[in-house]
Amino acid sequence: HAKQKEEAISLYDPAMTQALMRDQQMAERLTKALDRGELLLYYQPQVDLPSGRLIGAEALCRWHDDEWGWVSPAEFIPLAERRGLIRRLGTWVLSEVARQLLAWRQIGFTLPGRLSINISAQQFADPDLASHITSLLATVPPSAIGLELTESDFMRDPEQAIGITQTLHNSGFSLSIDDFGTGYSSLSYLRRFSADTLKIDISFVRDILTSHHDQVIVQTIIAMAVALGMGTIAEGVETQGQAELLASMGCHQAQGYLHGRPLPASAFTEAWGEHMRK
Ligand code: C2E
Ligand code: CA
Ligand code: CA
Ligand code: CA
Repeated sequence: HAKQKEEAISLYDPAMTQALMRDQQMAERLTKALDRGELLLYYQPQVDLPSGRLIGAEALCRWHDDEWGWVSPAEFIPLAERRGLIRRLGTWVLSEVARQLLAWRQIGFTLPGRLSINISAQQFADPDLASHITSLLATVPPSAIGLELTESDFMRDPEQAIGITQTLHNSGFSLSIDDFGTGYSSLSYLRRFSADTLKIDISFVRDILTSHHDQVIVQTIIAMAVALGMGTIAEGVETQGQAELLASMGCHQAQGYLHGRPLPASAFTEAWGEHMRK
């Protein structure tokens, strides 16, 4: 009885009602933003360590709402996932990336390495994801694209996800496992994901200079990548000290505020244009 009463009360919990209302409102506004083409992509550089040479970029989605201002993707991406909007958003991201790469090419810029795109778990529920990606990116050589997946992408239906990653890999896309170390994937699956790179999560990089524990984890991830013939890239690198330690541990790729923040395409070419001329 006590439990029943608790549940009855929680139905009318004003904080909960408010959260649901914001969720509903945000879903409506995000739908409108998608309809009107108001989302943006920012680009964050990925560099080689220690040279600092540009080796690629990650495309990160941005949303500015007239009334709410900038809404963080940490809020609207999970919302899009909950509300069934992520496939539409993901489709937009893919076509926008194709458009941007073409626009750069037309003004004489080529991004060295790969442009990486985040793919969300729910996109993996689509058995036709691989052909969907291939057709949206038809104007782009697959070798110029990296797809960032998280371990949760593989949870729902590992066999289907493995099949999709194999198809994408065989088409020439490179794949990385994002936020690596924060999920629960089994090592035996890891080998079958056809991923080329493990992306070391920011949470292990943040305190790497002072935390022996985090150093051991990062060293273990790097050793595992080497054993599986994969590369590593560290995310959230903010200081020279972190970059030097990571490089000395054998991680030779980095992404973080030390080398550059995510920027709109025009500002990205202003900052990195000299690396993008043939
Ligand atoms: P993520 O894929 O792990 O992306 C890295 C996040 O770390 C980005 O946050 C980036 O701005 C931030 N970051 C980069 N360098 C640093 C640093 O040196 N210090 C700190 N503190 N943060 C740094 P952002 O742009 O807010 O995106 C948050 C998350 O939203 C992403 O995490 C990703 O999971 C998701 N997301 C963003 N864009 C997309 C998208 O187009 N599609 C999907 N499915 N997810 C996206
Ligand atoms: Ca990512
Ligand atoms: Ca992350
Ligand atoms: Ca992520």
